[in-house]
Amino acid sequence: MSFSALGLTGPLLTTIDKSDYSTPYPIQEAAIPAILAGKDVLGIAQTGSGKTASFVLPILQQFQKKAPASNRHIKALVLVPTRELAMQVASVFTFFSTNLSRKVKSLTVYGGVSINPQMMQLQGVEILVATPGRLLDLVNNKALYLSEVDILVLDEADKLLNVGFKAEMGQILAMLPTKRQNILFSATLGKDVHTITEMLLHDPVTIEITPDEEHFDDIKQIGYRVTEARRGPLLRYLIKEQGLRQVLVFTSSVHKADSVVHKLKINGISALALHSEKSQGARTDALRYFKSGEITVLVASDLASRGIDIPYLPVVVNYELPRSPKDFIHRVGRTGRAGATGLAISFVGPEDEQHFRVIQKKMGKWADMVESDTVNLRGY
Ligand code: AMP
Repeated sequence: MSFSALGLTGPLLTTIDKSDYSTPYPIQEAAIPAILAGKDVLGIAQTGSGKTASFVLPILQQFQKKAPASNRHIKALVLVPTRELAMQVASVFTFFSTNLSRKVKSLTVYGGVSINPQMMQLQGVEILVATPGRLLDLVNNKALYLSEVDILVLDEADKLLNVGFKAEMGQILAMLPTKRQNILFSATLGKDVHTITEMLLHDPVTIEITPDEEHFDDIKQIGYRVTEARRGPLLRYLIKEQGLRQVLVFTSSVHKADSVVHKLKINGISALALHSEKSQGARTDALRYFKSGEITVLVASDLASRGIDIPYLPVVVNYELPRSPKDFIHRVGRTGRAGATGLAISFVGPEDEQHFRVIQKKMGKWADMVESDTVNLRGY
């Protein structure tokens, strides 16, 4: 199957040819023709499935036939739960917009940074990628109008419908015109997502992409039994002794992420933290330095980690296990992508044993367990 067989044409195909996309991913095969046909779409898919291009490409193609929007009236609204995801989605829009004959201006807006520059950039924008709070601020400031929105995308809807966003989402949905195309992506189909799909989507094309079983076969999983006090030294030992590079470490709290980074640095390992209490600038820089290999370790708390796409990540370390098996699968799924073999290391304290068994059972894959108390950690 080729991208042209999905109904994409002209300049978009030229840009795809120049990209590293050779054939469409399954979600793209299913979603692109449906979106081009103006259908509502429900996609159960995670980051890594290729879901972003599956809505960006057909939306850009639809814009080729659209009349221009009135000033400050956007036509397509993409709602996302985090700033990182907002930037990623926006970069895909920008990349595929380069050669279009009818120019389409897209913009990303999110909180945590000054609102004024965003207000000024809104001039002429037709596609907006936004987090809910900042979108409402802009609408309330009359910097932006939603009355011409005819395409709505909810990306990572399960996160968007979290308690923290619920009221804001309700307000936004109430402001949109009723006649529009709705596209909703979610990693899971829980109760909240189910309710909103019933409410929002009309006769949707439903696409479910389950995490590829074989994909987990490309990931080597090792569980280290370790006591609390030895987690830090063990991490540093593994990084130094095994010469690990581009290591993504997960902690369960912001505080722990900061303290792990601090200890890595005083032991001569370059590291930065990525979490919700960092400024937007610091988060963007951390991700950039990590992607380019300028730092060895990125330590992320779960909240900030959702949706971050770093292709071909070699090593993921669960410094602390997440509470939910789904989050574990999501974390571990960041390695071993696209045919590359990945390594997923999990630190398992005595109190985590039972929980780790539950996680592995859910995943259907078992880690090799290593007793770390035989490892000499002196000097780490
Ligand atoms: P996403 O799930 O949208 O975050 O995409 C995950 C990764 O897959 C991104 O790095 C994309 O650039 C990449 N990707 C998406 N579609 C394709 C494709 N058809 N061929 C190769 N890479 C792709």
